Amino acid sequence: MSRFWSKVVHGLTPYTPGEQVRMPGLIKLNTNENPYGPSPKAVAAMQAAVDDDLRRYPDPANLAVKDAVARRLGVRREQVFVGNSSDEVLAHTFHALLKHELPLLCPDISYSFYATYCSLYGITAVQVPLNDRFEIDVEHYNAPCGAIIIANPNAPTGIALSLAQIEALLLAHADQVVVVDEAYVDFGGESASALVDRYDNLLVIQTLSKSHSLAGLRVGFAVGHPDLIAGLERVKNSFNCYPLGQMAQAGAVASLDDVDYAQQTARAVIATRAWLTAEMQALGFDVLPSRANFIFVRHPQHDAVSIAAGLREWAILVRHFKQARIDQFLRISIGTDAECAALVDALKTLLA
Ligand SMILES: *Cc1c(COP(=O)(O)O)cnc(C)c1O
Repeated sequence: MSRFWSKVVHGLTPYTPGEQVRMPGLIKLNTNENPYGPSPKAVAAMQAAVDDDLRRYPDPANLAVKDAVARRLGVRREQVFVGNSSDEVLAHTFHALLKHELPLLCPDISYSFYATYCSLYGITAVQVPLNDRFEIDVEHYNAPCGAIIIANPNAPTGIALSLAQIEALLLAHADQVVVVDEAYVDFGGESASALVDRYDNLLVIQTLSKSHSLAGLRVGFAVGHPDLIAGLERVKNSFNCYPLGQMAQAGAVASLDDVDYAQQTARAVIATRAWLTAEMQALGFDVLPSRANFIFVRHPQHDAVSIAAGLREWAILVRHFKQARIDQFLRISIGTDAECAALVDALKTLLA
């Protein structure tokens, strides 16, 4: 605390990210990073972008990245917004599109950064409880509201809504912006980006951090109606005109264009997820049906915090959230087959 802090700073509750421990031999299953490296083409493109041109500012409009997103998702450049991580895209979205007279609706259990942005931008939110199967029930979103944000697949549950359910939400709220955070969609979800031509109230946000294995690069984007994108551009250009450097732009384009590589690594993660789910069930865990690169599990006889502490002794990190309804769950990122096998071995010993 300092007497120089503004009133806003005193009132903030910052987001707490999962621990970023660097330790040899550590099995890090706590922040949903991709266990496979980024596309070799993306790495080569970034290396090639390190040159004398760095003395210049990068393209402030991120046109090459917008065009790569447009190619990948079958939309137009005017329907794409690019930012330095999807967290930044989300921040601009809260600022530009989600602050209204009526409250923002969001799930009670979801990405906790949403509440952080509400506190930063002075947005009132109403949390809509997940149903008792931990699903988002779109029929519970009929209260009067200024806007809606959901994650699909949701985090930390991993459970996905169908496109038909997203469409029902869009139709029921034609006069409100509906934001769908698709950080995990490439691991088996259905993207609502296919609907942006038909719904002017839809904004879909994605990231290269998970399925493209580029969490360290910080690139995210949104697709939606050109008027929504123009609102985001106004906030971005009042904040930082150059959010993506030359290397990030080059790496993002190459990664987005290497469709085969991203699909191949996503398939590997999905296969490991199926294996790990079966193993965890065999150990007595309840496993929510995941369409993401993590599973959300609880054991009816063993306390979640004790399991996490036990795993830590084995140098295995998983994520626990101290939150009502989910404090007996652990979120476990899908690692390589070897990492997941080591997790299962450790659990066999711990639970015995
Ligand atoms: C990881 C994650 C993000 C943030 O992704 P970045 O692009 O790395 O900032 C956004 N939303 C959800 C639901 C996530 O899990």
